[in-house]
Amino acid sequence: MINKLNQDGLLQIEVNPFTRLVWNSTEAREKYEVMLNRALPLHDKAEYEMVRRGLRKCGTIHFSPHTFHSLIERFHKDNMVWLPIQWTRNYGGFSHRHIPTVVGDSNSSAYGVMARNLEDAEAFRRASSYMARGQTDHKKLGDLLLFPDCCSTFFVEKWGDGYYDPVWHSAEETKNSKMVADRVIEVEGHIHTNQMLRYMGLRTTTHFPCSLDCEESIRIGEIWLDVMNSIDQTGTNYLIELLSMPIVWSCLHGVATVETPIFTIVTNSLPTKERWTVLFNVPGGDKPINTMILLGADVDLPAIAQNTRKHLAAMRSTQHGD
Ligand SMILES: [Zn+2]
Repeated sequence: MINKLNQDGLLQIEVNPFTRLVWNSTEAREKYEVMLNRALPLHDKAEYEMVRRGLRKCGTIHFSPHTFHSLIERFHKDNMVWLPIQWTRNYGGFSHRHIPTVVGDSNSSAYGVMARNLEDAEAFRRASSYMARGQTDHKKLGDLLLFPDCCSTFFVEKWGDGYYDPVWHSAEETKNSKMVADRVIEVEGHIHTNQMLRYMGLRTTTHFPCSLDCEESIRIGEIWLDVMNSIDQTGTNYLIELLSMPIVWSCLHGVATVETPIFTIVTNSLPTKERWTVLFNVPGGDKPINTMILLGADVDLPAIAQNTRKHLAAMRSTQHGD
């Protein structure tokens, strides 16, 4: 069975950042849109609170020309500090890296570090080798951000090899994972390791897990969940419900499609030559294979190709007048 996604499996292209959410039906939208909108802002709010309450030394946040005034006031009142790291071009949706910009570009924002004191903020910048010589100290960054060692090591290694969205790799590291066909893996994960809806902003933790059963990630996820609950309990329940849905994540030619029973997300991801698919469910939850009609499963591609060929041939013969 073909189950190793390696360098030969990638194309040398990069798709610009974009994220789109498409509701699977009008009924699904009517029922779940309110829920989605309530769950969406929770992660960013919790990221700020985790730092403010001292549960995490640092966090990252973008300051843009139109949010600067309100953010700086909030930081001052909460006795928080913010230091800039780099300017980056604004993008729609989820970006896996910072996009270069030029001075004065109004369509850009400053990415930076937030902390409760300058020492921690400076330590973050030093470790990320910004304004300092030397290597990026990922262990130190992990400590400041409350990332498990195992996950930091995993992500740095995969990122270095060009897998900047290693969903497939984290699935295959999971103990209960099972290859069910060429390039298709079935896996039981956890809401705290489910990063397949993060392109929209739905996630509990900030870090990418080394596997979908990483115990440290689950432990840290509970801390995030406590904070989220203190901010908005109903919103947190909605987030848990959304992260517990069966999911089919698949990736082809730089575009990932994330199917759930209620909506489908289309976004930029790894430029794979073939389609790689992860079938995900939480313990006790429905398996995608039993409950979902997969995108394209009801489409007969060879028949469409054959019909198209026939149409083209018919058009050609009319144009030639024979
Ligand atoms: Zn881990």
